Amino acid sequence: MASSKDIEKAAGVLRAGGLVALPTETVYGLAADAMDPAAISRIFQVKGRPPSHPLIVHLAGAEQLDAWVQDVPVAARVLAEHFWPGPLTLVLRRGPRVPLEATGGLETVAVRVPDHPVALALLAAFGGGVTAPSANRFGSVSPTTANDVRAELGDAVDFVLDGGPCQVGVESTIVDVTGEAPTILRPGGVTREDLEAVLGHPLAVPSTSQVRVPGQHPSHYAPRARVVLVEPETVIAEAEAASESGHQVGVFLPAAFADVPVKAHAVVAVPASPAAYAQGLYGFLREFDQQGCDLIIASLPAEQGLGLAIANRLRRAAGPRHTV
Ligand code: AMP
Ligand code: MG
Repeated sequence: MASSKDIEKAAGVLRAGGLVALPTETVYGLAADAMDPAAISRIFQVKGRPPSHPLIVHLAGAEQLDAWVQDVPVAARVLAEHFWPGPLTLVLRRGPRVPLEATGGLETVAVRVPDHPVALALLAAFGGGVTAPSANRFGSVSPTTANDVRAELGDAVDFVLDGGPCQVGVESTIVDVTGEAPTILRPGGVTREDLEAVLGHPLAVPSTSQVRVPGQHPSHYAPRARVVLVEPETVIAEAEAASESGHQVGVFLPAAFADVPVKAHAVVAVPASPAAYAQGLYGFLREFDQQGCDLIIASLPAEQGLGLAIANRLRRAAGPRHTV
């Protein structure tokens, strides 16, 4: 676990224009000074991420919001007050200090306050904001431990802060509050139901089948192995058929079938609790890759609560692969 000396060192790396891998409650981020265009450019280089994909600016607290954005609507204040620190990202109108490099050229900027003691300590020591996309190569599985980051990025990152395994395990929920009504751009760690309870009205369900905002490619969060989604009742039969035809199959075994033996290369029993499933999801995908699977058979969970974010990530993991 990162010590206070590590935090000081990491803050120094940020001040010098370097990159720090940062634990958050969602996934590990690759952080740079949000006001340093050259440092931000290095993030895009290291990740292999197209520069048109906007980044999320991470702040130490809601009281910093007005330094970074303009025209904050009441709904945004209510959501920030209720869910920060936490896995909720708000898209707002960009303030003058936000470089266009951080927003992919957009006049809006995504901001959040992470709920992790190491992230908050670094933000306090650094004194500014950091842009921090997930600390993985573009399109691949997000890291949820410091070791995942080291395995994925190696020397390309200047300093890795270890904050233990991420508690939420999937990325933040992104809500655009610049329009008439708040809209969910990406489901994540804060559920739609929780947002609706606080706002007092229903929110549109995001479509996962189309590209809605920059950075929302059909294929993302993808392991090396091909991911195929089937109905829960057919997971076992599909997995065994694929194994028999020579594939090294990794299986996400639905909780309802947890006790059924499956003939496959690797089997993960899906945790019955959506929170545990979300927390483990990326680790399971990485594990299948490490075990040499070339095919992963999974089914979608019910799309409510955290199941909405899990289904979104599985769909994208199974989506058509893109070329950068
Ligand atoms: P991540 O890759 O987890 O850092 O998530 C960043 C994602 O936030 C991007 O891929 C976009 O989908 C979304 N995003 C960031 N900034 C904006 C913005 N200004 N408008 C709309 N979406 C944004
Ligand atoms: Mg990412």
